[in-house]
Amino acid sequence: MEVEILERQGNELRFVIRGVSTAFVNSLRRTAIAEVPTMAIEDVVILTNSSALFDEVIAHRLGLIPLTTPKDGYVMPKDCECRGSGCPKCQARLYLDVKAEFPMVVYAKDLLSDDPNVRPVYGDIPIVKLEAGQALVLEAYAQLGLGKDHAKWQPVSACAYKYYPKVNVMDDLCDGCGKCVEACAKAVLKLNKEKAKVVDILKCMLCGDCVEACPRGAIDVGKVDGCFVFYLESTGTLPPEDVIIKSADVLIDKAKRFIKALEEAS
Ligand SMILES: [Zn+2]
Repeated sequence: MEVEILERQGNELRFVIRGVSTAFVNSLRRTAIAEVPTMAIEDVVILTNSSALFDEVIAHRLGLIPLTTPKDGYVMPKDCECRGSGCPKCQARLYLDVKAEFPMVVYAKDLLSDDPNVRPVYGDIPIVKLEAGQALVLEAYAQLGLGKDHAKWQPVSACAYKYYPKVNVMDDLCDGCGKCVEACAKAVLKLNKEKAKVVDILKCMLCGDCVEACPRGAIDVGKVDGCFVFYLESTGTLPPEDVIIKSADVLIDKAKRFIKALEEAS
C-alpha cells in the first residue's frame, strides 16, 4: 500500500492511495463517517429561556455546533465507570449566560467551557436572537458519540473517493481537431503541437465526454486498478488526518475483535 498526500488545507485533505481494493477504501470512508468518536452536546439544562425559541429547539441547535475533540481525556459514556450517568471522565460541561440589554444575537462563542479543549470550533454560529430584556441561561453537557447514532457526532462534512483516472490519447490517430478539449468540462486536456495532451489528470471525473467527442476514436478513458483519490473535509472537530487515522484504528480494532472471537469459537 502506498499513500501520497496531494493537498492539505484547513479542514480539507486529499490523498492518493495505491494498492488497495474498493472494499478497503469504502470501509475507510464509512468508518470515518459513522464510527470515529467526536464530542457534541447531548444534554442541556435550561435555567432561563425567555427567547422566542422553545427549549428543545435551542437544545437541538446546541447539539449541532461542532466542538473540538481532545485526542485523549474522555471515554465513551457506555464504557465509563459511571455507566453513562455522567461524570468528568465522560462529560464536559459548557455554560451560557446571556441577558440582553439591547436586541442581540447569541453566538456559539458565548458558550463557555470548563475544559478549554472542548469548545465550539466556530464562534460565529448563531444560536438565537434576543430582544432587550430577554435572557438565556443554560448548562450543556458534551460527550463522545458516533456518527451512526446521530449526525452531530459525524467528524466529516464530506468524505468520498474516486478511481484514479487514466486518459490515453493515441497520437497516431489524433489529428488535433480540439473537439475533446472543448467537450471536457474539467479542462483535463489541452492542445499541444496539434495533438491533444492530458494536462491535469486528477480533475478527470471519468465522464467519457472526450471519448464521445473525438471523431477518430483516438481517446481512451479508464481507471487505474487498485488506485483511488480520497477526499475528506472535517467539520473542524478533529484535524482531517486524525479522522482518517482514527478510522483506520477502528478498523484494526474490529479485525482484532473478530480474530479473538474466532479463536474463542474454535
Ligand atoms: Zn462517566
